Amino acid sequence: MSNFPSHAQVVIIGGGVGGCSIAYHLTLLGWKNVVVLERNDLTSGSTFHSAGLVGQLRTSSNLTKMIRYSTDLYRRLHVETGRDPGWREVGSLRLASSPERLEELKRLVAVSALLAYRWN
Ligand SMILES: Cc1cc2nc3c(=O)[nH]c(=O)nc-3n(C[C@H](O)[C@H](O)[C@H](O)COP(=O)(O)OP(=O)(O)OC[C@H]3O[C@@H](n4cnc5c(N)ncnc54)[C@H](O)[C@@H]3O)c2cc1C
Repeated sequence: MSNFPSHAQVVIIGGGVGGCSIAYHLTLLGWKNVVVLERNDLTSGSTFHSAGLVGQLRTSSNLTKMIRYSTDLYRRLHVETGRDPGWREVGSLRLASSPERLEELKRLVAVSALLAYRWN
């Protein structure tokens, strides 16, 4: 605990993708004194179990914009950090295994058509 800072501008509890992303973006904005508290190892929670799929469509325009931003960020992360995060853009296939999932997929298609119309 000797390296533990006594003061911080912000303390983020949880070092999963959420907490690490908040820390990354705050430092990008110029915050200098950002502390992430993680009770185990960084990214050892749900983030460790994630398959790492970053589907490009969500059911709202804002979420879809966020996911597009994430994709751009993951593309350049190796340049910023000098480490390969293992990002591969391979595409994916979504299958509906229930009527509710089919409904969700239809909604995604409708939203994506609307967004393509608005953004192009
Ligand atoms: C099997 C599986 C597959 C998945 N696949 C995908 C996928 O392909 N694509 C996708 O986008 N999402 C996927 N997800 C979902 C994704 O993994 C989660 O949405 C995401 O990791 C959540 O991140 P988080 O930072 O919110 O939580 P977490 O990664 O769980 O991080 C929370 C952290 O907080 C720490 N913590 C909790 N309480 C405290 C405390 N009091 N003090 C200190 N630390 C604390 C925990 O130890 C943990 O490390 C998947 C999830 C699972 C389980």
